[in-house]
Amino acid sequence: MPLKCISGNQELFAFNIASAEDWNELRARNAQDRYLHMHCCGAGVILKTSKLGTRYFSHVRKGPCLSAPESSEHLRAKEIIATAVQHAGWVARVEQSGQTNDQRTWIADVLASRGGKTAIAFEVQWSRQAFEETVRRQDVYRSASVRGMWFMRQHNFPISKEIPAFMLTFDEVSGAFHVLLPAPSFNPLWISARDKHRPEYWQQRVELGRFVEGALQGKLRFAPQLGKMLPLDVSAAYTNCWRCKKTTGIIIDLRFAASRVQPGAADVTASIYDFDDDDGHGSTLLRNTLHPNLLAQHGIGPIKPRYSRTEGHKYLSNGCVHCDALQGRFFDHEVAYDAQSIFSVDVLFDDQWTRHLEDQDAMNRWWFDDMPAQPLPMLSEPN
Ligand SMILES: [Zn+2]
Ligand SMILES: [Zn+2]
Repeated sequence: MPLKCISGNQELFAFNIASAEDWNELRARNAQDRYLHMHCCGAGVILKTSKLGTRYFSHVRKGPCLSAPESSEHLRAKEIIATAVQHAGWVARVEQSGQTNDQRTWIADVLASRGGKTAIAFEVQWSRQAFEETVRRQDVYRSASVRGMWFMRQHNFPISKEIPAFMLTFDEVSGAFHVLLPAPSFNPLWISARDKHRPEYWQQRVELGRFVEGALQGKLRFAPQLGKMLPLDVSAAYTNCWRCKKTTGIIIDLRFAASRVQPGAADVTASIYDFDDDDGHGSTLLRNTLHPNLLAQHGIGPIKPRYSRTEGHKYLSNGCVHCDALQGRFFDHEVAYDAQSIFSVDVLFDDQWTRHLEDQDAMNRWWFDDMPAQPLPMLSEPN
């Protein structure tokens, strides 16, 4: 069910025919003159409309042509993408094929290009495709200097900077397609097809057309938190020091609150123990950011390496704000429930932080910058 046919030696795209009137006129003219041909095999064309309202071209007689049938959903999604590509000011071609230098063939559902150089292939995968096949096809695109982007009905797809892939859903009631972006907890290997719609696996949900348009406008980013100034929320609980019996604050966890500056981006969590390293880089970083004076203002003792008799070695630890006695990590969980965010400092979230963190899945995800465009300042008329 293609959106494209051949008229003379020109490609004709169904979504470029603006009105029902023009479509009917084209149908009448073609019925008389039979001048439209399928691009796959040159067969004659009839004009049809899918059950989802998409106008498309179909073989008069299929004959020996081997082109695969498409579902109405696939067809409609292609139409939405092609239209969004044009909206973004790019050139859209559908069912566009090409070859790599080593003779491997690719066919893109929608190929977006601009200035003859940049090309992005949008692939709608409404039928199942093996994980390895997605990887292989992306490799073909890379060899052809095309950037592939995948919209898949299945949840089993790669999550990586090299292969932008997302889940696509269709709502039969509204007729809308939505792109779902994986949350940190989403791992395709752990999730069954039955559970794939559970909300905790999806960080953002964006209407397909808006997503495509935004992606072409640079609104789609991998690991968006990197290199940004982020609020670091310090969460603490208050307990009685085992030695001096006075109340002291201990840091339970740290949160790089990306979601406050980048709506829809995942927060990155950490504990002070993530920064316990042999070369002392982590403890120095933490000490410079959460200086003992700053912590003392909130009744929290310094974070520094202390010797633990229980563990028989030193580790980066909470300590009493009054007597500096080690507050052992073994007891953290007993007060964790009472922990709350106490204060926040802004940090430049770069490699010196991320190299210590275990929470890599919060960073290694795609993010769609859904913030509304800044309103233009009022232009005043001359005079
Ligand atoms: Zn054909
Ligand atoms: Zn104490």
